Amino acid sequence: MLGSIVLFGPPGAGKGTQAEIIVEMTGKPQVSTGDMLRSAVSQGTELGLEAKTYMESGQLVPDQVIIGLIEDRLNEPDASNGVLFDGFPRTIPQAEALAGITEVSGVISIEVPDEDIINRIVGRRMDSETGEIYHVSFKPPPPEVESRLVQRKDDNENTVRSRLDAYHEQTKPLGEWYDNMGILAIVDGTGSIQEVGQSVANAVRSL
Ligand code: AMP
Repeated sequence: MLGSIVLFGPPGAGKGTQAEIIVEMTGKPQVSTGDMLRSAVSQGTELGLEAKTYMESGQLVPDQVIIGLIEDRLNEPDASNGVLFDGFPRTIPQAEALAGITEVSGVISIEVPDEDIINRIVGRRMDSETGEIYHVSFKPPPPEVESRLVQRKDDNENTVRSRLDAYHEQTKPLGEWYDNMGILAIVDGTGSIQEVGQSVANAVRSL
């Protein structure tokens, strides 16, 4: 049986958007460390207080914090047949820890060049009621949700540049790590949401 799946790629590659298709196809729950951390920050928990400064400056939250969060999440009943990781692992130590907890069947890497990332992230908005993600030009929100739109605090140009630096230095080497294990599928993330979705679906079928 298919174990966990990892969605891999730079910030703004469309991991959160494309996760929906994989959840539909596999029935595995989406586990987004970014969403979990944002929820901890908004609830003002101890974890949230610790993570906040890193997140707002575009740095990665320390590995041991993230690994603890994932261990707890994987102990929940809905995770027993594997999950879809979105935004995790982001460092080699995180991937090593993960290998000791659950079987990773496939890693789908969505590739988008840096020059496209800034535009994508700076125009990104979220419906605060439903969590649906929009983009001011690429996926314009319907007029009735305009008043509910919020922008992530770290979705500004300065912070995006730091997040991209962190991606290139700490996360990108993981792609090669998984490629060497023979479980990496690469998807071109530059097309429309539907086109990328097709490629992601093909990659899932090939696992
Ligand atoms: P994301 O929503 O995936 O772009 O994550 C937003 C921010 O949360 C990142 O810029 C990091 O500060 C933090 N974060 C999320 N996932 C991780 C992770 N796996 N390792 C370290 N930091 C993370």
